[in-house]
Amino acid sequence: METIETEKWIRPARYQEKLPDNVVRCHVCPHNCIVQEEKSGICQTRVNHQGELYTLAYGNPCSVHIDPIEKKPLFHFFPGMSIYSVATAGCNFRCLNCQNWQISQSAPQLLTHYDLMPAQLVQQALLHNTNSLAFTYTEPTVFYEYVYDTAKIAHENGLKTVFISNGFINEKPLLDLCPYLDAANIDLKCFDDAVYRRLDGGRLQPVLDTLKTLKGNGVWLEITNLLIPTYTDNEEMIQSMCDWLVGNGFEDTPLHFSRFFPTYKLSELSPTSETVLIRAKEIAMKSGLKYIYIGNIPGLHDENTRCPACKRMLVERSGFVVKRNLIRHGLCGFCREPVAGVWE
Ligand code: SF4
Repeated sequence: METIETEKWIRPARYQEKLPDNVVRCHVCPHNCIVQEEKSGICQTRVNHQGELYTLAYGNPCSVHIDPIEKKPLFHFFPGMSIYSVATAGCNFRCLNCQNWQISQSAPQLLTHYDLMPAQLVQQALLHNTNSLAFTYTEPTVFYEYVYDTAKIAHENGLKTVFISNGFINEKPLLDLCPYLDAANIDLKCFDDAVYRRLDGGRLQPVLDTLKTLKGNGVWLEITNLLIPTYTDNEEMIQSMCDWLVGNGFEDTPLHFSRFFPTYKLSELSPTSETVLIRAKEIAMKSGLKYIYIGNIPGLHDENTRCPACKRMLVERSGFVVKRNLIRHGLCGFCREPVAGVWE
């Protein structure tokens, strides 16, 4: 019979601190869980076995798909590119509106999964003619070891790597990962710590720290903000968020306002109204953000990229399809203004 040390999907966890009486503290994310023997942390991916912390999420993704990169969403990073996308079970948040709760609120050993060790995962991405890999759908922070090893091998093989995350990760693991990351989209849930705790089981400040760390370490960054009626659609909150972004040098960082649809524990709420989304965009524009998008409303045409100077349309999108791209060498094809992003 296999023991926990020889089980294929189990690896010693990184960033663990041994405490007395076989108790272990995990330092991967700001929960910094203190994990008792034979118990797991909040994310359900890390267990304490005989005083040693192990990750159960290694080489066993429960979701594997090829997506357009626009779906992440990343609009200023190789538009039109297909991206090999994976997730294991588990998450360090408890979002009331989680769209993927069947996998995020489960544990790796409870779900059927693929057998894709890091080198095989990279091989699969190459075989499917994608030039990038995304860690997405659930929260990649909680399958950190798998992300780290895969991202390293991906870079050795010329693949780009993308981190789609709630941003709730400690600085040290993030700094160690940054050299192997090319782009990230961080879900900035709202700009109110009390709402963060109530809606997501998280906190605001660590996410803001993550935005700074990613940007400061050369990872291309985009931000998503989902406007949930009565939780995150307050105009003052949106204004405070935009002020913070501009005040901290994120005016070139694309901001995706996203429409909420009733789901999971918030199935009684209405979808976000178009008026609220349009108002949010106005606030962001007046605050000085240069690239603002509205997602999940077909026909609004707010998913196109415009030149920040001459305002002409440079990347035309229909859903997740890029119909036209007039950016050349990172410059507007009309007026030659630089357009922030990684284009080619
Ligand atoms: S990664 Fe998991 S075990 Fe570690 S601190 Fe975060 S929630 Fe806790």
